Amino acid sequence: MHDIWNPWHGCKKYSEGCAHCYMYYLDRMRGSDPTEVYPTKGGFDYPLQSRRDGRYKVQSGELIRVCMTSDFFLPEADQWRAEAWAMMHERSDVKFWLLTKRAERIEQCLPADWGDGWENVMLNVTAENGRRADERIPILLRLPAKHKGVMCAPLIGPVELAPYLADGQIEQVLCGGENYDGARPCDYAWVKAISDACRARNVTFVFTETGTTFWKNGKRYVMPSKRVQTEMAYRSGLSYLGKPVEWRLRDRLGLEIPQEELYVPHFRAHCKLCGMKLTCNGCSDCGRCEDESAGAGTNSDNYA
Ligand code: SF4
Repeated sequence: MHDIWNPWHGCKKYSEGCAHCYMYYLDRMRGSDPTEVYPTKGGFDYPLQSRRDGRYKVQSGELIRVCMTSDFFLPEADQWRAEAWAMMHERSDVKFWLLTKRAERIEQCLPADWGDGWENVMLNVTAENGRRADERIPILLRLPAKHKGVMCAPLIGPVELAPYLADGQIEQVLCGGENYDGARPCDYAWVKAISDACRARNVTFVFTETGTTFWKNGKRYVMPSKRVQTEMAYRSGLSYLGKPVEWRLRDRLGLEIPQEELYVPHFRAHCKLCGMKLTCNGCSDCGRCEDESAGAGTNSDNYA
C-alpha cells in the first residue's frame, strides 16, 4: 500500500490490544517469528525513494502511516529510529502518522530538534479500552507536538474520552473493532459514546470497521469480510468530520507549500461506502477491489 511505511518489522506484545495482533497472525501464516525485529529490506528508506523520472514515490501532501507491523517506539528499534526521524524531517512536505502503545517511551525517543513538534508529524496513542486510555492519553497530552490523535482499535471495551478532548489538543480519533483469530466483540454503544464525545468537541471521529463480531441493541452480528465491516461502519453514521487538521507542509527551503501543489487523494465508486474514507490516503489503483468484486462474497481479509 502506498500509504504505509514500515521502516522495521516485528514486535513484542504489550497490552490487551495485542492479544490477536494481525502482524503475529500473518507472520505465523508465513512461518516467520513475529517477535524478531528487523529493518525492512527495500522499505526502510521508502520516503526518500524516487521513481525513474527522479521524483519521489511519495508525493508532497500524502499521508503516510508509519510502522503498521511494529511499534515506532519499540526499544528494539532504538538503533534505527534516528534515521527514520531524519527522513521525516527531510520530507517536511509529507504527513507522517505515528501510532504507539508505548506512550511512556515517546519523550525519550524524540529527536533533539523536535522542539514543540514538527508540523508534518502526528503522534497517536492506542486506547483499546478505558484502562489504556487513562494510562496513555495523559502522557500524550503532556508531550510537545503539533498534532495529536487517538486510535481506539481494536476497541475491546468502553473508553471515556470526553475529559481528554476538553483542551482541544486531540485533533482526530479513529475507532475499529477487532479481526483475526480469537477476535473479541465490539459494541455499538462503546463506539457511539466515543463518537458523541468527539462531536461535542468538534473533533474528527472515524469509525473504520466493526470488527468480526459486533453487538448492537442486544443483537450479535458476525462479519468476516472487511469490506462488509467497513461498509457497516460507514452506514452507522457515527463518523464525524470535525475541525480539519491544519498540516503546514514545507519544501526543502522551508517555504510552506501552497495547497494546490499538494497531493489530492482520489477514490473509486465503492470507496463511497467505506468507513475508512475520511482518513484514507486515497486509492492506489492496485485493482484488487475489482478482483474482489469479481469474486464477490469471498470473506478473506487481505493485508498488503
Ligand atoms: S504493539 Fe502493535 S504490532 Fe506490536 S504486538 Fe501489539 S498490536 Fe502487534
